[in-house]
Amino acid sequence: MTDIAIHSHVSQLTAPSATELAAALGSGLPEQPYAYQSRSLVEPDWRRFPGWRNVSTADWNNPQWQRAHCIKTVAQLRQVVGELLDDSCYADLERDQRERATMSMLLPPQMLNTIAPSLDTATRGGITEAFRTDPVRRYMVPLYSDRRQDWPSHPFAERDSLHEQDMWAVEGLTHRYPTKVLAEVVATCPQYCGHCTRMDLVGNSTPQVAKARFVMRPADRLKAMLDYLSTTPGVRDVVVSGGDVANLPWPRLEAFVSELIRISSIRDIRLASKAVVGLPQYWSSDEVRRGMERLVRLARSHDVQLAVHTHANAAQQITPAVAAAARGLIDTGLRDVRNQGVLMSGVNDSVEALLDLSFALLDGAAIMPYYFYLCDMIPFSEHWRTSVSHAQDLQQGILGYLPGFATPRIVCDVPFIGKRWVHQPLQYDRERGISYWTKNYRTSLEKGAEEPGNVTTHQYFDPIHTLPESGQDWWRRHASMVEVD
Ligand code: SF4
Repeated sequence: MTDIAIHSHVSQLTAPSATELAAALGSGLPEQPYAYQSRSLVEPDWRRFPGWRNVSTADWNNPQWQRAHCIKTVAQLRQVVGELLDDSCYADLERDQRERATMSMLLPPQMLNTIAPSLDTATRGGITEAFRTDPVRRYMVPLYSDRRQDWPSHPFAERDSLHEQDMWAVEGLTHRYPTKVLAEVVATCPQYCGHCTRMDLVGNSTPQVAKARFVMRPADRLKAMLDYLSTTPGVRDVVVSGGDVANLPWPRLEAFVSELIRISSIRDIRLASKAVVGLPQYWSSDEVRRGMERLVRLARSHDVQLAVHTHANAAQQITPAVAAAARGLIDTGLRDVRNQGVLMSGVNDSVEALLDLSFALLDGAAIMPYYFYLCDMIPFSEHWRTSVSHAQDLQQGILGYLPGFATPRIVCDVPFIGKRWVHQPLQYDRERGISYWTKNYRTSLEKGAEEPGNVTTHQYFDPIHTLPESGQDWWRRHASMVEVD
């Protein structure tokens, strides 16, 4: 029977006619879940905002003008945007500043200009709806009404949720991974992001958060970092961050990075700056460009790879000014400019948004899409956070469209563990939203705490409002527990 069935099936196969073959070849592949389109980058016209109607291109391109005209208060936002926003929107923002914000407001004009980029601004309140729903606005200018009212914070949210300060080898130098360190060289940025994972330390205090402060003198702190690295040859890779390196005066940043390059065990240095996106005028300035050329020459002469990491979360942030800054950096000869975005609900948590951003980075600005981090478990972040299962679906959804080398990994930064790919949990209780993770190295916190070969497991928690009703009910009954079984 089997033989007959096979024979019968094969006999039905006939070669396509020439016409059918031509039609099939001509039509290409079937329609795809994501429709790739090569798009030109757009610099929105800042003159659409009443407060910037007379701002010249020369001023706009000047980093000092950008810094001097940053928006720091609701009143300053009103001076720029005026009646294009309803009063209810300003009131919503003021309430968030008072009752929820973990970061103070700081928006360079370049950043604000990418919000609600192409709208009819002729009528009173004309951009309110677009402003409220805009992905850049949702993380750079958070409103009280954005936040969850049921669970504004996860019960296990913490100020320094990654315990970076617990792992400081010297003040500001986090030694969490065996061969790499994070050097926080400055605790400020040219822009403050509402979801900042270093909200404990970075920026100005808010009514809700009195910030921690470095106590050492800046010069002593940087020297202590260099001394530690000079005597710790197991470290080969330094992320120079903050804050944002664009807020360390260039001569001091150049001096520090030059000293790093001269440490013989250091092979990779990455400068972390969201300002490539938020204040590209800084990275395009002559002083910084010439300084980067000197650093690249020095790095090459010591066989050190120098790269810049930035942080964009939405395609509309990649404008011609950002592309010019990134391409200018690449022209200095550094290894790469890479993007580490943050996955956030309502900002970029769809396959389309992640791929649109990745293609804008790659095609438009020659920036390598590298990581998307799950938003960390800091206070008042539940409305931004996504579940591990949603992140797994998104990782699956974006595979196959970009070149493999430019396909961003979606990672979860698990407290006490470090970055893990979202498909890597050891176990995952989807009902209660608890994933269990392990790692293959020890941090300084585990010195002597484990026998060789023992595996430590740590937990990560999905946002409670994303769980099935039974899981949400479990949390309502157990939220005050200190330990979760
Ligand atoms: S630029 Fe980076 S360090 Fe600064 S506020 Fe934003 S996320 Fe935090």
